Amino acid sequence: MSTLSYRQILVGRFMTGMVGLDEMFAEFYKAGRDPDEALVPELLARARKDNYIPVAGEAEYAEALLREYRKYCAQQESGCTCRTEYGTWRGIPREQIPWFPTLYEDLCDNCGKCVSFCPEKVFDFTTDDRRVYVASPLKCQVECTECARICPQKAISFPPRTVLQTFGG
Ligand code: SF4
Ligand code: SF4
Repeated sequence: MSTLSYRQILVGRFMTGMVGLDEMFAEFYKAGRDPDEALVPELLARARKDNYIPVAGEAEYAEALLREYRKYCAQQESGCTCRTEYGTWRGIPREQIPWFPTLYEDLCDNCGKCVSFCPEKVFDFTTDDRRVYVASPLKCQVECTECARICPQKAISFPPRTVLQTFGG
C-alpha cells in the first residue's frame, strides 16, 4: 500500500494539512507544466482527489497551491533534491510537524512586540491595514513558545507539547 506525502501549507492565514502534493507537483513538473495561472483549475481538481477543498475557500487554496508549485519548480530547476526548504526536526520534514503560533485576532491589539521579538521573523504586518499575522509559520522553532510569554494581550497560543510525542518529541 502506498502512502501519500503529507505537508502543511499556508492557505490564507491558516496552516492546512494536505496530502499528495509532492506526487501532484512531480506529475505536473514531469509533464512540463509551467507554474502559471492557467494551471490553477487543474491544480485544484487534482488536489481535490485527496483533499477536501471547500468551494468558499477555493481562491485561497488556488493561491496556495500555485505558490507551492512555483517553489517546487524553483527547487527542481536549482538542482536541489531536498524535500523541504524548512529543514527537518528529529529527521522529519518540518512541514509535517504541527507546531506554530495561532494568533487570536480578537485579542491582539497589533502592538508589534511579537514581530520585533521573534528571531525567526514568523510574524509580520499586513501591507494593507498593518495588522499583525502569522506570516511564516513553518519558520517557528519547534518547542519554542517565547512569543506567547511576551505577548501583553495573551493573544498567542501553541498546541500542547504532547502533539510532539507522535514525532518523537
Ligand atoms: S505581541 Fe500580542 S498583542 Fe502584540 S501584536 Fe503580537 S500578538 Fe498582537
Ligand atoms: S515560538 Fe519562538 S520561534 Fe516560534 S514564533 Fe514564537 S518566538 Fe518565534
